[in-house]
Amino acid sequence: MALRTKPVLVEDPVVSALTMIDNNALSVMLVSRAIDLLPIPAALVVLGDDGVRIEVSNTAFDLAGLGPGERRQSLVAQIEPQITAFIRGETLRAEFRIDFGDLVDGRHYQATLARLIRNPEQRCILTLVDQTAELRTEHNLRREMLTDSLTGLPNRAGFSDRLEGLIEDPATRERYAVLVIDLDRFSRVNACLGSMAGDELLITVARRMKGALRAQDVLARTGGDEFAILLTLEDGAVDADHVSKRIFGALATPFRLSDFEIRVACSIGIAFGAAEIDDAEELIRHAQFAVKRSKVTGKSEAYQIQAFDIAREQFGIETALRRAIERGQMRLCYQPIIDLATGKLVAFESLARWRAEDGTEYSPNDFIPVAEESGLIVPLGRWAIQEAAATLAGWDARLGGDCGIKLAVNLSAIQLQRDAIAPVVQAALDCNGLNGDRFTLELTESALVSDPDRIATIMHALKALGTTIAMDDFGTGYSNLAYLQKLPIDVLKIDRSFVTGMLADRDKIAIVRAILSLAQALGMQTTAEGIETVELSQTLAALGCSYGQGYFFARPLEADAAYAMLLDRCH
Ligand code: C2E
Ligand code: CA
Ligand code: CA
Repeated sequence: MALRTKPVLVEDPVVSALTMIDNNALSVMLVSRAIDLLPIPAALVVLGDDGVRIEVSNTAFDLAGLGPGERRQSLVAQIEPQITAFIRGETLRAEFRIDFGDLVDGRHYQATLARLIRNPEQRCILTLVDQTAELRTEHNLRREMLTDSLTGLPNRAGFSDRLEGLIEDPATRERYAVLVIDLDRFSRVNACLGSMAGDELLITVARRMKGALRAQDVLARTGGDEFAILLTLEDGAVDADHVSKRIFGALATPFRLSDFEIRVACSIGIAFGAAEIDDAEELIRHAQFAVKRSKVTGKSEAYQIQAFDIAREQFGIETALRRAIERGQMRLCYQPIIDLATGKLVAFESLARWRAEDGTEYSPNDFIPVAEESGLIVPLGRWAIQEAAATLAGWDARLGGDCGIKLAVNLSAIQLQRDAIAPVVQAALDCNGLNGDRFTLELTESALVSDPDRIATIMHALKALGTTIAMDDFGTGYSNLAYLQKLPIDVLKIDRSFVTGMLADRDKIAIVRAILSLAQALGMQTTAEGIETVELSQTLAALGCSYGQGYFFARPLEADAAYAMLLDRCH
């Protein structure tokens, strides 16, 4: 964050003229008159046998509280080395910063020393430009940029900033731990009660968590529903355990929001500082990694303990995955998407599949995260886009023209960050002779959280190609509804977790209804994922959901089987 106040250059003609004046008794008087004309604090400084002394100062100098007295003496004492060096040296001017006074009454000056032409070995002119106000503004602005406006806590940048400062010294790094706290199911509150209630809840959660911490611990809001704590370890690792317990405890009592009582569960990931970790971001990433495990185990999880195993296992998978991508051993399966009102086949979603050389079938849920962490998501994502386009063009060719359906391709949030997606999609369409309207791109809500403006630009670029944009796993992330409205989204895909078991769960039905009416209000279409039974299919159709996908219609099919289905259903 490079916020710097520009130095003010003091090119005052009076100062320049002054430096020409002879330095005898008469001219000292002249100098004193002349500097009095200056609107900024200025003084004639002498280097005598007993050190530096101010011989004459102007009114502005005295008005700045630097008249003869203690303050003046302490200022002179502070800058004596610079003045001595300047007078003894050769240069015509010198500039430096002075931070003077205590915290409450501190001033910041830009000081300029100017040499007198005739008698330079004893005297020089000192002028001061007061930059206190500019620096305060800079300071305030900086503080604002580092603060979350909703809770008043440090934001992600503010948190990194603090952490960076603390882990600078390798010797003290082990005294800190980072806790990342992720609120579970928070998006449901937003979806059901609206974002105002969501905001209120976040503020209350922040307050409770703060109450569970010691004074020296720093709490920050680092994401939509993610908080982080910077912990000073006094008794070692157990401190982190204690704090986790207190956080769980603080959130255990339900929250009252207008007429509702809401329970908020959370997951906690811990990363301990270590001498070899000098990167604040790395420590935060470790804690976020541990949160994912915490979501599975339901208790707080520390990164260090399993780091080695996971790293080793992951390294093995990573190497094998890299090879599979390079050797073209990945394949795509295609799952039909059906128009619920008419039963017509409208699209297939392409889903990556990988059978390793030893015969192990890996699920995308295993290898996509590895690909994301290792950067392999870029070649993998490019391959998937190209492969899907080639398959669709192949089907068109076999049917002697547009086969009438679209293909959907998944884009991961990390892929969007790391690759230039729109040009990649365009190239795949062009080289397979396809129009943009044959492609749907599925993005997840998490893509929006990281860098919404950039993602918005990418989405508009994809729209410009004529493609359809679907928001995948909708309802599981933290979406700012006001923001969603501004994005060129065509379809909301209702996450499977809301659809599965929905008929027996009033909460889920309420969420699905809320999403459907939201989509309607925003002019978007909807696809329900995970339809496994005829009842679900019928209920969703009755509720007004546009499309459906799930085992009831078909599991993801190999390319040949998908083509057979296409032939059967459409021709
Ligand atoms: P997704 O985009 O939500 O894809 C739907 C997942 O739900 C697929 O899992 C699909 O097999 C599964 N599914 C479909 N219908 C049903 C059903 O009725 N019941 C149940 N229980 N499951 C159903 P899959 O193929 O394991 O993929 C998992 C996730 O991996 C996908 O979730 C997607 O996020 C990701 N993924 C898959 N292929 C790619 C890819 O090429 N690129 C990227 N970035 N992500 C991919
Ligand atoms: Ca998808
Ligand atoms: Ca999905």
